[in-house]
Amino acid sequence: MQTDFRNVLKERHKWGLQHQENGGLVMGCYSAMVPEELMWSCGVLPIQFLMSPGTYGESQAYLPPYTCDCSKSILEEYLDGTYRYLDGLMVSHVCETIRGLAGILSVRWPERFVHVFTAPACNDLGARRYIRAELMSLAEKLQSLGAAPMSPERLEEAISLYNTNRELINEIYHFRGQNPGAVEPEQVLSAVMSAGIMPRPQHNRMLRELLKTIHKGPERAGTRIILAGLLFEIELAEGNNLFSILRESNALVVWDDLASGMRYRLERVEGSKGDDPLDRLVESFMGPQPAPLRSPAERKAGQLLKAVREYGGEGVIFLIPKYCDPILFEIPTLIPILKENDVPSLCLEVSGSLSEGQMRVRVEAFMEMLSGSSADSIWA
Ligand code: SF4
Repeated sequence: MQTDFRNVLKERHKWGLQHQENGGLVMGCYSAMVPEELMWSCGVLPIQFLMSPGTYGESQAYLPPYTCDCSKSILEEYLDGTYRYLDGLMVSHVCETIRGLAGILSVRWPERFVHVFTAPACNDLGARRYIRAELMSLAEKLQSLGAAPMSPERLEEAISLYNTNRELINEIYHFRGQNPGAVEPEQVLSAVMSAGIMPRPQHNRMLRELLKTIHKGPERAGTRIILAGLLFEIELAEGNNLFSILRESNALVVWDDLASGMRYRLERVEGSKGDDPLDRLVESFMGPQPAPLRSPAERKAGQLLKAVREYGGEGVIFLIPKYCDPILFEIPTLIPILKENDVPSLCLEVSGSLSEGQMRVRVEAFMEMLSGSSADSIWA
């Protein structure tokens, strides 16, 4: 069995098409804050949109120029027919851009299913009632599209499957954190991104195979860094400049807090069998995972500092897509907290106009700063 998840990303549409051939539905999703377990239990494969960088054509006519590449890429691939096979689209309300994009898509293709799923920001009885009603209404809508009805047994099975997946990914992260260099950061990130596009039973099998192949080797010298922010580029599959630059600068990625990485709802859906699985799913949306728009940036800072302590992180590199408000809003809170705790940081724009040369200069300057160990930040 292959263990290189970059090949999975290269063939990202294959999984959805296969699932449809077997009689299932496929839902294009943006952000992991959507109820993937519920969809899977109804026979629906949720697939996460990935970003195809490039020059966007027709989508420019529908979106303002100050829109992130991520939403341009989704719209472009909708317009050119790449996503024609999807049975619907579901976005989580992580930012106004993606909510606006869902509106554009529902006007442009009124016959297609478009759903905005909003996970509550607060954690109280009202929020629980709201999310429970949302999940039940979603199950009915999926059924009207041809999906299987929701059942506690199937939901229980799906929760268990997704929990196993989270445990396997966590195992890889912890192993990499303690043995940086044992597995390349692209491989780890591709593994998490693949979880969003292929059925979990196959993904779990591949993760187990990958775990068998990574071994503790001789300790690699380098500067231990943590990545945070957002990186959805499909070009990860082709060989991403950023990771070559990090390697050449002797940076060892020990952890990440990327939306496409460790922040991909990797906490277990808790509770034991016998409890109502829908209630457990509801609880998971109230969970502690800090996400923009849902929790104060201070919580996220706490999570970064915890990773710094646990894995000896010497600096944090924020990967910020151009015009990405949720990430940009957090930065002014995060950097001073990191600085107060003597953790230097670098802010790096990862899409748009940044060339390889510019990125290299900034990463190398940051690495030099880290070897001088001053707790400062660089905006790039
Ligand atoms: S603004 Fe940020 S979170 Fe929103 S769609 Fe764009 S890249 Fe994603």
